[in-house]
Amino acid sequence: MTAPTATAQIGVTGLAVMGRNLARNLARHGYAVAVHNRSAERTDALVREFGDEGVFVPARTPAELVAALQRPRRVLLMVQAGAPTDAVIEEFAPLLEPGDILVDGGNAHFADTRRREAKLRERGIHFVGTGVSGGEEGALHGPSMMPGGSKEAYEALAPLFQDIAAKAPDGTPTVTHIGPDGAGHFVKMVHNGIEYSDMQLIGEAYDLLRQAAGYEPARIAEIFREWNRGRLGSYLIEITAEVLAHTDAATGRPFVDIVADRAGQKGTGRWTVQTALDLGTPVTGIAEAVFARAVSGHTRLREAARALPGPDRPELHPDDAARFAEQVEQALYASKVVAYAQGWHMIQAASEEYGWGIDPAAVAAIWRAGSIVRAGFLDRITAAYRANPDLPGLLADEGFAREAGAAQAAWRTVVSTAVRDGVPVPGFSSALAYYDSLRAERLPAALIQGQRDFFGAHTYRRTDREGSYHTLWATPDRPETRTE
Ligand code: NAP
Repeated sequence: MTAPTATAQIGVTGLAVMGRNLARNLARHGYAVAVHNRSAERTDALVREFGDEGVFVPARTPAELVAALQRPRRVLLMVQAGAPTDAVIEEFAPLLEPGDILVDGGNAHFADTRRREAKLRERGIHFVGTGVSGGEEGALHGPSMMPGGSKEAYEALAPLFQDIAAKAPDGTPTVTHIGPDGAGHFVKMVHNGIEYSDMQLIGEAYDLLRQAAGYEPARIAEIFREWNRGRLGSYLIEITAEVLAHTDAATGRPFVDIVADRAGQKGTGRWTVQTALDLGTPVTGIAEAVFARAVSGHTRLREAARALPGPDRPELHPDDAARFAEQVEQALYASKVVAYAQGWHMIQAASEEYGWGIDPAAVAAIWRAGSIVRAGFLDRITAAYRANPDLPGLLADEGFAREAGAAQAAWRTVVSTAVRDGVPVPGFSSALAYYDSLRAERLPAALIQGQRDFFGAHTYRRTDREGSYHTLWATPDRPETRTE
């Protein structure tokens, strides 16, 4: 069904999987949606296949799409990230007027979003970089949405976004105004980084249950199902059990055994780590996850190294294997707490750096449904930051600190068993190292300061007095001077 000109409440351009499903989601919620795609076949296919789901206004050109919209115009771009997004913005911006709103729902780098927002703001056009999580299914049935940009623009979009977003268990829509300019895309980037980290930890838990405990995939699927009923309950644990329980129809073997063990990546994990290096926030779990995928892809190197010796793996008595599985659950939970703690640290650091004023509790709240990392666990993060918005980090929350502390003995057993048995656990071990670094009374950073002062006169601070100091290392009695 189509509607007359200038009646559409929102326009969507870019009708591949994401754009098409968001357009349908909007139409199903009663909005008249103008739809456009560079190649008209996608527009025609959408109207032909799903036209009965609501009101779609097909447009052949950007000008037609803009002409179909009520003012202020709301245009959602769902095109390929990078240069294509710039090209599409260039096409639409001249057709828009001050007060109109251009939403980029693609996976843009937040720095690009900042640049685009600043440029369009000069022309009075609101640019709203919006993170969208939940993939194709989420786009249709309810994504988690992370819009950044002006408050005014958010207010004009909120009724629509709240309708199409997923609903958390308490009924609240999983969308909130994250903050100005690139804040939404930044949070989406870290969301994806955390997703990498969570998946890596789950992968390591599987590997330990397989290699060290000696369980078959079907048994491990059962264990994951059991875990899913507890504190680890989440979409990622749920789908892990599904994947592990799946049998390959062609060979009758476990599906996980016939898939090539080279993990792909599209780049948001890498962006997270690159950005974290600039911000100086230690997201070691995300970095290990990105590098673990990279290692998996170096086939020639792995083949050449296959002959390297490893330890003999003792066979575990069934009782010991069952106990070990419980310890893996604890190690996985504690490592997950660290992964999320690191992600939130990064979000808060960026919020300070860019003056975004991001509410850390609201971020956790909008990932509780629709998003790939949706989990009961996020209710706990929401509650922790609501109770104390100035929490220096998740591990400073009493509840999380108690749980990580209670898990630490099992965590150490799991990491040392992995080391003993030669099972790579970069995620588990780096999370434990982070936990130990934070709780350490003294870090070897003091020695590093001494080394830096020795070779580069980089100066150091003392524990007992204010000021910066330098020791004249080349002078025989090594006198100390105060430099400021
Ligand atoms: P995509 O494959 O990333 O992009 C294809 C769409 O972009 C098509 O509509 C294509 O038009 C259009 N396009 C490409 N270059 C263009 C240009 N120069 N001018 C005009 N249009 C151009 O599609 P997608 O997977 O649906 O994703 C859309 C956006 O959402 C991306 O930024 C993606 O990163 C992001 N995202 C994707 C997912 C997911 O699960 N797929 C999840 C969250 C976010 P034609 O049909 O004419 O080629």
